[in-house]
Amino acid sequence: MTPLIIPVFLPHLGCRERCLFCNQRTITKKVPSPQSVREFIEISLEHFPSHQAEREKQVAFYGGSFTAMSLEDQVSYLKEVQPFLSSGRINSIRLSTRPDALNGETLATLKEYGVKIVEVGVQSMLDEVLLLSKRGHDAEDSAAAILRLKQWGFEVGVHLMIGLRGDTCDYFLWSLDQMIALRPDFVRIHPTLVLKGASLEEIWKSGGYSPLTMDEAVAWLKKGILKLERASIPIARIGLQPGKELEEHLLAGPFHPALHQLVDSAIFYDMAKDLLRKYPNGPKPVFVCHPKDLSNLKGQRNENILRLKKRFKLSDIFIFSSKDVGRGGLALQTRGGEVLIDRKLLD
Ligand code: SF4
Repeated sequence: MTPLIIPVFLPHLGCRERCLFCNQRTITKKVPSPQSVREFIEISLEHFPSHQAEREKQVAFYGGSFTAMSLEDQVSYLKEVQPFLSSGRINSIRLSTRPDALNGETLATLKEYGVKIVEVGVQSMLDEVLLLSKRGHDAEDSAAAILRLKQWGFEVGVHLMIGLRGDTCDYFLWSLDQMIALRPDFVRIHPTLVLKGASLEEIWKSGGYSPLTMDEAVAWLKKGILKLERASIPIARIGLQPGKELEEHLLAGPFHPALHQLVDSAIFYDMAKDLLRKYPNGPKPVFVCHPKDLSNLKGQRNENILRLKKRFKLSDIFIFSSKDVGRGGLALQTRGGEVLIDRKLLD
């Protein structure tokens, strides 16, 4: 069961320089003081629904480079969570940071204060892409950080981006391969967006950068998701968390509030297309999917069904749901029985 997370945003705290694409002020303008964190946790706990009492509860420090702050500042934030950990009202801490700020002294401190999960901003494993994005670290730093965190017994999350300056789909897939070889516990993937106030804004305005189109982003992510699924590495999130601030700052780029679902729908379209190509059996095919995949199969506003009907000149498509079909799977009823497609075998 996924944990309940109390997110504490520390915009740009610890960041040595500003990465080209980043403006954390799109999430929150105010930097909370360590002292305000305790009250924030208290209020958040009061608002958790009582039926969720059994779920693991985590405090997450996001929005900056936590371990690039001075050790003293890190401790001042971590200390505020300690009473909640001792009382069992909070189970653990997670935080996000950059890969070149994880030395032994820092990791020992994180352990001491109950940090369980460290999310590392890797973004790309191509040095030239990292350089163009002014990340200030290279791919070797990321690989070393992940290995070190695992050796210390932390759960490791990895953040990757698509469509950075100089990025290509092959570069992205190559970066994913490098990550898969390092076996992180989960991955998040965000498309690059042009945000007001980020350095990328000026480059975009002067024609030096074009974001991915939505179709391109979906095509890249489709390949990426399938690769991660084949490797059995969980995907924690695809796309940035939607919010008023983000939408106000968004200038260009493939933003969608439910991007993961959009990509999943595209995968279901490909699966249905594959089945209909291989097993054409009349103008009214019958598909079966898991109940939780019904909307993914249909697509937004029934788009998949309409496209399939048009492409295969079908008069109707019937869809049934059954728990006999696993999550993410799709079956087509034929005269000889049901045929199931394995999405892991898609290109
Ligand atoms: S991407 Fe991360 S390291 Fe770069 S400026 Fe944003 S918060 Fe800081």
